[in-house]
This record gives sequence, C-alpha cells and structure tokens, in this order.
Amino acid sequence: MRIALDYDGTYTRAPALWDAFIASVKQHGVEVVCVTMRHPEEVTEIGCPVHYTGREAKLFWCARNGLQIDVWIDDMPQYIVGDAR
Ligand SMILES: [Mg+2]
Repeated sequence: MRIALDYDGTYTRAPALWDAFIASVKQHGVEVVCVTMRHPEEVTEIGCPVHYTGREAKLFWCARNGLQIDVWIDDMPQYIVGDAR
C-alpha cells in the first residue's frame, strides 16, 4: 500500500502530527510519499519522498509517472482530479 500525503494545508497544518504518522506508517511496512502541486523549485521540508506535480492534477500526474496511490490524504481533494492552473 502507498499513501499520498499532501503538503500545503495538510502537512504544514500539523507537522509534528504528520511526522509521527509518517514514522508509524513506515514501521508498519507501508510506503508514504508526499504529493504536492508545488513546483520542484518550491522547497518542502518533510521526512518522506516528495513528488511535485507543478499544479497538475495529482491523480493524473501520478498515473502518467507510474506512481500508483492507494490512499490520499489531502485538505483539498478537488486537486487530486483537477488542475490548479
Ligand atoms: Mg493542500
């Protein structure tokens, strides 16, 4: 299973909570990645791999890049399927 954690408004809202979550997820043998609509040059600070969609809808960006996501955690789920351009 792979979990996608949003950055802005999700991770940034409670970093200590999500740091503990990321550590727990890893202990359970589950993969967690950050999928953000930021561009790569927009710095993020999070303890898991980060994928930058550059404002493209997350679901379609991940599909196009061969990244299967099983569970999404996102404060703005409309951007999983919709661009932010
Ligand atoms: Mg967000």
